[in-house]
Amino acid sequence: MSESVSICVIGSGYVGLVAAACFAEMGHQIVCVDNDEAKVKTLREGGVPIYEQHLPELLAKHRGTRIQFTTNLAEAVHRSEAVFIAVGTPQGQTGAADLSYVEAVVSEIARAISSYKVIVEKSTVPVYTNEWIRRVLHRHGVGSNLFDVVSNPEFLREGTAVSDFMHPDRIVVGAGTERAIELLRRIYSPLTEGKYYTRPESLPGACSAAQPAKLLVTSAQSAEIIKHASNAFLALKISFINAVANLAESVDADIEDVAAGMGLDKRIGMKFLRAGLGYGGSCFPKDVAAFHWVAQQKGLNFQLLEEVRRINDAQRDVFFNKVRAALWTLRGKRLAALGLAFKGDTDDIRESPALDVIQRLIAAGAHIAAYDPAAMERARAVLPASENLSFASSLYEAAEDADALLILTDWAEFANIDLPRLDRALRFPIVIDGRNLYAPEKMAEHGFTYVSIGRPATYNEQQGKPKSAIL
Ligand code: NAD
Repeated sequence: MSESVSICVIGSGYVGLVAAACFAEMGHQIVCVDNDEAKVKTLREGGVPIYEQHLPELLAKHRGTRIQFTTNLAEAVHRSEAVFIAVGTPQGQTGAADLSYVEAVVSEIARAISSYKVIVEKSTVPVYTNEWIRRVLHRHGVGSNLFDVVSNPEFLREGTAVSDFMHPDRIVVGAGTERAIELLRRIYSPLTEGKYYTRPESLPGACSAAQPAKLLVTSAQSAEIIKHASNAFLALKISFINAVANLAESVDADIEDVAAGMGLDKRIGMKFLRAGLGYGGSCFPKDVAAFHWVAQQKGLNFQLLEEVRRINDAQRDVFFNKVRAALWTLRGKRLAALGLAFKGDTDDIRESPALDVIQRLIAAGAHIAAYDPAAMERARAVLPASENLSFASSLYEAAEDADALLILTDWAEFANIDLPRLDRALRFPIVIDGRNLYAPEKMAEHGFTYVSIGRPATYNEQQGKPKSAIL
């Protein structure tokens, strides 16, 4: 069944570009469209506009043969059997997803259709978007015989996006006609029939020829809800463990032990039970808000989602207060901030808790020396210029003569710091860790005052215990 399908992917961002590269790797012919001319030029010339493991290799392998890049949407649609929409769906002012990019693309597709196409929602969209896409096409005079609309939500995580795409936990296809389902089955057949996993150069991962990827067929509405509900549930897990972390800390328990004890229960699982600064990024905040908005539109009380957001926001206050309690006053203090991206292994800074914390500290008069392995350029472009903000070329440079080191993002590099070297660089051996990357005992052995989330702090003897309790 795994014959090549001609596919057009509209939107060459984190999802569209990864999907395009992975579809090409599966053996399909891809035209990747974006209306950002500079981005298309970069891609054509061999550049890779985002930081994502394995993506440069896949693009280098297929560029010019199985993948083409263009700004010409009409021509790309014309040449393709399946049209994947992967443009952004940011949060609008009411909390609802702003679907104007999707609508603009659908209108353009409508003008270009002259033969049957399967139009696939890859972007994360609220329930009934498939119905709206259908309506827009009809309004533009496109007959029902010329298209089907399918929801095929994407579950990849930035940082491991390519592996996630090639080794998915599940592929969800929400469609109403056999013809459309059949095309999606063909597209994913290298993964669902397992042939991809027998190739010598295939990426290793959870799927194999013996246990290939699973494809679940549902209605379009169910598929749309699966995506929103999945992200909302993961966000809920993070907020839940953060709420428990604050409780654990107040009774001298250790949230890492509590999370391990909970996560070993298979019904709960270890993943997403990491206490810290809370979630950010381009998905969870907006998807929780959009899902809540959908429920409100239907007159349903889904206040739980509002609470998930509230706990997440409050975690930044928790961290800020820890910094203040450890340093007493902030004006004029020099702080090394490790991490700008919303999480490790990505250069994505959208809704990054790290940026929020940094801006609050600057507003309080602290000087920040920031370092991130991949997100410096993007952060420099959005953080307001300030004489209280500088960027360092390494974590040790950031730490040089700092009053304390703050860990804001869970990059592996930050979990493997040369602690004696850090101690020599810092003015005072104080580490405030918003991602719980170290064991408090280890930090104590190295003489650090170490403050983390949901765990008792350890104190350097000479520094003494800050009287945070009386502030
Ligand atoms: P992105 O902002 O990185 O990429 C969107 C791209 O679409 C941009 O390159 C933009 O120039 C392009 N675009 C916008 N309007 C266009 C138009 N009219 N014609 C052609 N191109 C156009 O966004 P992203 O992170 O890839 O997210 C895309 C969608 O996928 C969102 O709905 C998001 O919620 C969803 N999603 C994202 C992730 C993730 O980890 N980033 C994971 C799963 C799902």
